[in-house]
Amino acid sequence: MSNEIVLPILPTSVIGSYPKPWWLRKVKRLWEMGKADDDDLMEAENDAVTAVVREQELAGIDIPSDGEQRREEMVEYFAERLGGFKFYGPVRVWGNNYFNKPAVVDKIVYKEPITLSEYLFLRKVSTRRIVKVTITGPYTIADWSFNEYYSTKEELVKELSSIINKELKMLADNGALFVQIDEPALTTHPDEVEWALELIDRTADNINAKIGLHVCYSNYRLLMPHLDNLRNISQLLLEFANRRFTDLDILKDFPLEIGLGVIDVHSKRIESPEEVSQAIKKALNYIDADRIYINPDCGLKLMPREVARLKMENMVKGTMIVREELKKRGREVTIFRTRM
Ligand SMILES: [Zn+2]
Repeated sequence: MSNEIVLPILPTSVIGSYPKPWWLRKVKRLWEMGKADDDDLMEAENDAVTAVVREQELAGIDIPSDGEQRREEMVEYFAERLGGFKFYGPVRVWGNNYFNKPAVVDKIVYKEPITLSEYLFLRKVSTRRIVKVTITGPYTIADWSFNEYYSTKEELVKELSSIINKELKMLADNGALFVQIDEPALTTHPDEVEWALELIDRTADNINAKIGLHVCYSNYRLLMPHLDNLRNISQLLLEFANRRFTDLDILKDFPLEIGLGVIDVHSKRIESPEEVSQAIKKALNYIDADRIYINPDCGLKLMPREVARLKMENMVKGTMIVREELKKRGREVTIFRTRM
């Protein structure tokens, strides 16, 4: 049975990550040096989540996240909590940036819920009816790991997909209404996109929650031919501001809801409300307002915290401009559904 919740038209949300307060990074360092214990770290993380959720809500965000305050890296966080992975040490990914690349050395095992406690805490501190939980998708986990156990990459993704299905079930059974699967690697190997999308969709089999899929800095045209095959994913969250809204025409005949990226998270320049409203109106040329959600391009974590806050604030102000215009035409609400 699908849940239905009335939201203001063009509901605003975030992609997930948010800058960490400086003091959380300090406590984390003390914890790594053995000078703060697990309870100290947990207290600091809880305080950080409370602060950034409040910050999002004060900016006017309808659907907040916990800012991924407890996570360092999106693949490592999940690989560390599943059986079957091993870490050999950091590998260089670009420039002087290192990534603690996991290796799959045994059958992957789901040991315990990974994001459930994050969700429950977020649910407790948010005043909003709907909050968003983010999960790294099976394809990206596989693509960013060494596979030393499964015969093919497809087998590995299949296994991860059934494990993430268990995690999604746990979240939905505990009341989570909106889960976003993050798949930044999805179009890296064009010949794998078709089966990858099918397996990502399968992670959400029989889950009574809205399932979004976030893909960024990718060739979106590779996804378009396969969107009609999705049975469980009802929203695609894409980045458009960074590409100066050049690809908006893909929204013509778009079969899903769009999470429209209108804020560039790679630039410290703060978009004006007018810029945001212009971008939304451009999208309205292709797709109806009741299928558009508004969000930044991607997680805001690399921005200075005050810049992130001002960007969210102007994103909401820009959305309000369009809402006022839609109101004159009698369009005021979007119905949020947990199933398609
Ligand atoms: Zn992203």
